[in-house]
Amino acid sequence: MSSNTTGRTTVLEASELDFTYRAGFSLFASRREGHHAVRGVSLTLGQGETLGLLGESGCGKSTLSALLCGDRRPDSGAMRLFSEPFDNFLKPSRRRLARVLQVVAQDTLGAFDPRQTIGRQITEVLAIHSIGQRSEYRDRAIEALRAVALPSSMLDRYPHQISGGQRQRAAIARALVTEPKILLCDEPVSALDVSVQAQVLNLLLDLQQQRGLSILFISHDVRVVRHVSHRVAVMQMGRVVETGPTEQVFSSPANPYTAKLLAAVPKGRRRSNPAGANAAPRILGENAAC
Ligand code: ADP
Ligand code: MG
Repeated sequence: MSSNTTGRTTVLEASELDFTYRAGFSLFASRREGHHAVRGVSLTLGQGETLGLLGESGCGKSTLSALLCGDRRPDSGAMRLFSEPFDNFLKPSRRRLARVLQVVAQDTLGAFDPRQTIGRQITEVLAIHSIGQRSEYRDRAIEALRAVALPSSMLDRYPHQISGGQRQRAAIARALVTEPKILLCDEPVSALDVSVQAQVLNLLLDLQQQRGLSILFISHDVRVVRHVSHRVAVMQMGRVVETGPTEQVFSSPANPYTAKLLAAVPKGRRRSNPAGANAAPRILGENAAC
């Protein structure tokens, strides 16, 4: 497999991706043209790396995430997973993709079916993707909950019966149950209280270190991206305008837009890394279940 600029093995690679939302019928000329949401985006994600995708609301981050997880198909461009064409992971079913790549989204309530227990929704993933034996589903679900510091009693709870932080942990557990190599986290802490944000971020960093996960961490929050990312890609109006190691981008941004984006927030702590460049830093707070 090829390596990216950090010397890590590349697990996910996108080249020149383009995507336009097609317009439906509209009386307004501007809406008839559609919206060119992703414009020539190229990026790589290395093994065990967190790539922060930073950009203002509406710049195309979630659309790019939808392309990278196969929910939408690009109009042009190419994607490779573990050096194989992305489409190999979608056919004949998405099972292969589900085993290597999972998504954690912002809306924890919307991510779960309100009528089914958390346990049912975790084990359902195993059933849908034919992973393991039915007799071991419950144990695997408990194991996934344990990995995110949630008790097994969560299995019988409904989504509305647990807190937002617990629900995000449960969503991460559901993503982990297929033992993926890559997590696409789209604003995973944006809907959470600040204290709970820190706990969920620490959890993601711990999981990365334990499992060697590669994480695309999408956020509009400059400070959060700085805390968690090894490298950063800055997105503006559908384009990636700057990519580089986090400290380099934050200390001397090459692109004027990046400089403006970073100047808009007070200076915060950065990804501190006493144990070396690949080690996960601790952020604020404790890792108690929230
Ligand atoms: P971000 O995640 O960075 O906030 P999105 O990827 O959600 O941005 O949206 C990028 C642009 O595409 C926005 O201008 C948004 O209004 C538009 N967009 C998003 N979803 C759709 C859709 N389903 N149909 C048409 N336009 C959309
Ligand atoms: Mg979004």
